[in-house]
Amino acid sequence: MTERGKRTNLVHGGTRRSQWGEVSEALFLTQGFVYDTAEAAEARFLKAGADEFIYARYGNPTVAMFEERMALLEEAEDAFAAASGMAAVNGALVSMLKAGDHVVSARALFGSCVYILEEVLTRYGVEISFVDGADPEQWAKAIRPGTRAVFFESMANPTLELVDIELVSGLAHAVGALVVVDNVFSTPVYSKAISQGADIVVYSTTKHVDGQGRCLGGVILGTREHIRGVVEPYMKHTGGAMSPFNAWVMLKGLETVDLRVRAQTAGASAIAAALEGHPGLSRLIYPGAASHPQHALAQRQMGAGGTMLALDIRGGKAAAFRFLNALEIVLISNNLGDAKSIATHPATTTHQRLTEDQRAALGIGDGLVRLSVGLEEPADLIADLQQALDIVRTE
Ligand SMILES: *Cc1c(COP(=O)(O)O)cnc(C)c1O
Repeated sequence: MTERGKRTNLVHGGTRRSQWGEVSEALFLTQGFVYDTAEAAEARFLKAGADEFIYARYGNPTVAMFEERMALLEEAEDAFAAASGMAAVNGALVSMLKAGDHVVSARALFGSCVYILEEVLTRYGVEISFVDGADPEQWAKAIRPGTRAVFFESMANPTLELVDIELVSGLAHAVGALVVVDNVFSTPVYSKAISQGADIVVYSTTKHVDGQGRCLGGVILGTREHIRGVVEPYMKHTGGAMSPFNAWVMLKGLETVDLRVRAQTAGASAIAAALEGHPGLSRLIYPGAASHPQHALAQRQMGAGGTMLALDIRGGKAAAFRFLNALEIVLISNNLGDAKSIATHPATTTHQRLTEDQRAALGIGDGLVRLSVGLEEPADLIADLQQALDIVRTE
């Protein structure tokens, strides 16, 4: 059969039907599987064939459907589903690293990713060098013969700085290092990370893939050899597998993820255009806007600006809090990629643990508000954000 388009794969990809011929993917909420004979159990433990399962920590039919659909979306050979985004990041890194290895990582990372690199990997003798991810010279200097892996978020949280996947992959591959990309903010809808050079792509599927705020999930994508040979043994023996229930929710999320992410991106673009230059903002950050210093890279790498914005509210923390408290539609929370628009004050929540100097180095000021644009009418969101900015200015 000819190759199918992305949208078709998101609806049908990976489907396995039971003898009942169900339309919607079945939820196999089972921890284990029975064997017809003792000999069959022995044979399956010796070598499980395709679609032969042993135990849900190793694999499950609903989870396998999700993994296959996700691999089709990312154009990766294979995938392993994880209990959360952090189980995926941990699994991707720990499964391939050993004492004495050197890793180069971008500095601007999700807090828990910093914990894995700084607190966990270093304890086991892995050396980590941190660089400014947007600066090619720092990558070139830090990557050296013997570097085993590079790690970065292709679009950083919450300042929306991009890392050039092609450029960093070129530097890494020249010394034989593997490129591990946390691609959450770029979304799997806009990702071309593997064709741009990434070896392993990781998502928190809690974000856009579920997209409706229900379940935690994660996924590690890469070559079949790496996923089955390196990632799977670590994940299946250490217990980071995705639950079948969550995989079922994620499968339903994948059916609409393309539509949702494109609509959310259109909303984000409309908001950026409406609020750019607003006197209440010292800065508006949106990679899809021509004012973004890496606009050209965003276009080349993703072909779109994504669903996230950052607004620097004039007047620091007090003004940012007044703004957040005045919002009527946009919720104050810390998820992202959700159907509901969500605003976050990183300095006092997601990035509270960092010192003031660390926050300053990452561009996380006290007035910075991260905005995840949902599926509401863009005009309603613009009106909500504008009335909140007006309240900040008149109070
Ligand atoms: C949310 C997030 C994670 C962690 O995902 P969980 O599903 O919460 O474990 C990792 N990286 C990035 C960039 C994220 O946004």
